[in-house]
Amino acid sequence: MLQKIDHLGIAVRSIEVARTFYEKILGLPCEGEETVESQKVKTAFFAVGEVHIELLEPTSEESPIAKFLQKNGEGIHHVAYKTDDIEAQIKQAQEGGCRLIHETPIEGAGGKLVAFLHPKSTHGVLMEFCAKKD
Ligand code: ZN
Repeated sequence: MLQKIDHLGIAVRSIEVARTFYEKILGLPCEGEETVESQKVKTAFFAVGEVHIELLEPTSEESPIAKFLQKNGEGIHHVAYKTDDIEAQIKQAQEGGCRLIHETPIEGAGGKLVAFLHPKSTHGVLMEFCAKKD
């Protein structure tokens, strides 16, 4: 079952530059930075109540975020839903005919398990399911 919106992923060219906006203008403390090798991204998280903002900076030209920036520029990249059962959530999407980017969960930031749904199947929004590892 989906429990809440966990975070919004925002693609930026430079976390170092974007951090200043989130910290100084919005007054949000950074919860930490982390490089996720599997996705070739550097991330920085900020908490806004129960929801988080995930800044995403590509660490390579091969990164999906580098491709996103080339195509769209900086901006909202994905919406992430927290689920208590990621396998069941993936199965439900699959059975409903949804195109998946990951049919099995991969390791995301913060040691969470994540899986993405293709925006062609979700009315134009790249969606992520995320769950705490057991
Ligand atoms: Zn995310």
